[in-house]
Amino acid sequence: MTAAVSKNSAGQETLATDASDSVFERAKKLFLQYAQPLKLNERYPGRMLVERLTIPDKIVQLRLSLQKDDGTVQVCNGYRVQFNDDRGPYKGGLRFHPQVDLEEVKALAFWMYLKTAVVDVPFGGAKGRIGVDYKSLSFAERERLTKRFAVMLRDVVGHEKDIPAPDVNTGQQEMAWMLDTWRMTSGGYQRGSVTGKPLGMGGSQGRVEATGVGTIITLAEAATDIGLDLAGATAAIQGFGNVGQYAALELARRGSRIVAVSDSRSGLVDPDGFDVDDLVRHKVETGALAGYRHGQVVEPAEVLTVECDVLIPAALEDAITVKNAPSIRARIISEGANGPITAEADAVLFDRGVCIVPDVLANAGGVIVSYFEWVQNREEYYWPIEEVREKLQRKLVTAYRLVAQRASQDGTSLRQGAYSVAIELVSEAAVARGVQ
Ligand code: NAD
Repeated sequence: MTAAVSKNSAGQETLATDASDSVFERAKKLFLQYAQPLKLNERYPGRMLVERLTIPDKIVQLRLSLQKDDGTVQVCNGYRVQFNDDRGPYKGGLRFHPQVDLEEVKALAFWMYLKTAVVDVPFGGAKGRIGVDYKSLSFAERERLTKRFAVMLRDVVGHEKDIPAPDVNTGQQEMAWMLDTWRMTSGGYQRGSVTGKPLGMGGSQGRVEATGVGTIITLAEAATDIGLDLAGATAAIQGFGNVGQYAALELARRGSRIVAVSDSRSGLVDPDGFDVDDLVRHKVETGALAGYRHGQVVEPAEVLTVECDVLIPAALEDAITVKNAPSIRARIISEGANGPITAEADAVLFDRGVCIVPDVLANAGGVIVSYFEWVQNREEYYWPIEEVREKLQRKLVTAYRLVAQRASQDGTSLRQGAYSVAIELVSEAAVARGVQ
């Protein structure tokens, strides 16, 4: 496929994407655009790095049969995409969602190896998925399905091969089931073969909240750079699951006012600001934002364009497109979700001077504490929460500063700065290891 080259208002060459492109094709085009100035072919002649870094190493496709409680059988598709392990074992979340789209899993695995490089944890990138309406299953059905998936993945995962973690609709419970399956089938514990586990099974302090909190640690650094004080700032959060809830709690702790929130079914707006602890309690107890006694009910998509200083998209890909980008009113966006802004919308926002902390940096707190969990599992020695928080803060601030410095030196966006750092690191490792 050839793509037309044009220039944005910053004079940077951009590869035009086609509306019919899959999310992976679009992710790849962005990578090619950012890799161009790095001149990989000239630096490493004949090493074929662009191809090696844009084609997944391995795709595992599975058919899962689930015995339902009523005795009937449901058939689901599953995937594990192992994209790149040049810098260490594959690492990436498991998403249980009705839409089964291999292209999306490829994109998520691709971003994952860039993310582990940006924040310099010794992993590569992978992603897994089961196409299922997971929320409609009973607790027992969920356990059977997750354990079936774990059995089928057994040969390709492991603490030095590929380490899954939570993502959309998965959490500590699913990770506990995965570990338990491998314990039963291998006859022993290999705790580091999955992260995001409950504390009692070798999980790390601080893992549950790490992604949401990390989104705000990186946001705070960028806010300082643009002269925005988070204390007293207003914020909107799209998606109120693991990442959105902890991002909201952390923002509130820093004195920001949360004026809008949404989940997949409803949006809520209150210019005076929500009591976030109470709102989280309501969401956890009822499973939805709907029915909360404060705020005005709006369509979920409206939350993205409310009047606010800070916007945290923390739901799914492609939430902000060229259609709604001109209406975004926030000064700064920290991408809690993976790929929430399309490349075209990103260009619109860049031209409008909106500061964007990119996903590969903003939501890397989860994989950083997953790395801490893996280290603790190898030593079977567990750190107190203060130590985890301090190490997370240090790692994210170091990564942010490196990316910001690179972006400022090259006159690019933070996203391009992050990609430059990551592509160079992974290229060095790929060349150092050789080809055989
Ligand atoms: P989750 O399942 O806990 O929560 C997802 C939330 O998004 C739910 O509240 C859901 O109702 C909401 N949502 C879905 N579609 C929506 C829409 N159209 N409008 C508004 N809300 C919508 O998932 P999560 O773990 O919080 O993951 C959210 C995002 O963060 C994903 O992109 C995921 O890949 C990314 N992420 C998660 C982690 C992690 O550690 N959990 C790490 C890195 C990145």
